[in-house]
Amino acid sequence: MTPETSAAPKPPPAPPAPKRRARLSRDDPPERRFPVIYRRLDKEYPEARTALNFSTPYEMLFATIMSAQSTDATVNKVTARLFSKYRTLEDYAKADPQEFEADIKSTGFFRMKTKAIQGAARRLLDAYDGKLPDTMAEILTLPGVARKTANVVLGNVYGVVEGIAVDTHVGRLARRLGLTKETDPVKVERDLMRLIPRSKWMRVTYLFIEHGRKVCKAPVPRCEECVLNEICPSSRV
Ligand code: SF4
Repeated sequence: MTPETSAAPKPPPAPPAPKRRARLSRDDPPERRFPVIYRRLDKEYPEARTALNFSTPYEMLFATIMSAQSTDATVNKVTARLFSKYRTLEDYAKADPQEFEADIKSTGFFRMKTKAIQGAARRLLDAYDGKLPDTMAEILTLPGVARKTANVVLGNVYGVVEGIAVDTHVGRLARRLGLTKETDPVKVERDLMRLIPRSKWMRVTYLFIEHGRKVCKAPVPRCEECVLNEICPSSRV
């Protein structure tokens, strides 16, 4: 039997301290900050998606055309009537322009939007057998359709993601967060597409839109209640 000694047993050596990642700051490059920006907004807005109502591909196109310079709530109010009044693409193509303008007047820019919607309806009938095309190149040939509208429609109707829809909220957020310096939406989209993995292109649009509507508002952002304030170069707090 080993005699007991009064000396306490030696404690085992302490495990190595876990390596800590350097704290992220607003001066870090976009490549380091973006994954955190995305994670936080994704958690903040789990329900972020289009709020526009539609039941056919071309209805989504027309609702998106009407949503320019308007709110989704206003467009939904208008389309609730419009989509039951005009039931086919032919109905849109043949509608009396003045009557159609009156139908969509509350969405603003109603003359321009009437021309675009009726022109798109005619082209869909003439060139695409009445079927909304599912590629960027083809959908861009429709009147009133630029990349923002094309991205929204292709993503929501067909799950085809060829870019990032840059509306006023997405552009403002991208600039304030220091992800681009550009103001032209096509150049903003190009910068975001370089930075953001393709799998996140669709969702990031709706996350930025939600954050832009609720917190990072124009002209005055609510930085004090923003989950990104310590990693945002434009933060006012
Ligand atoms: S900190 Fe301010 S400027 Fe930056 S994203 Fe948040 S609300 Fe916008």
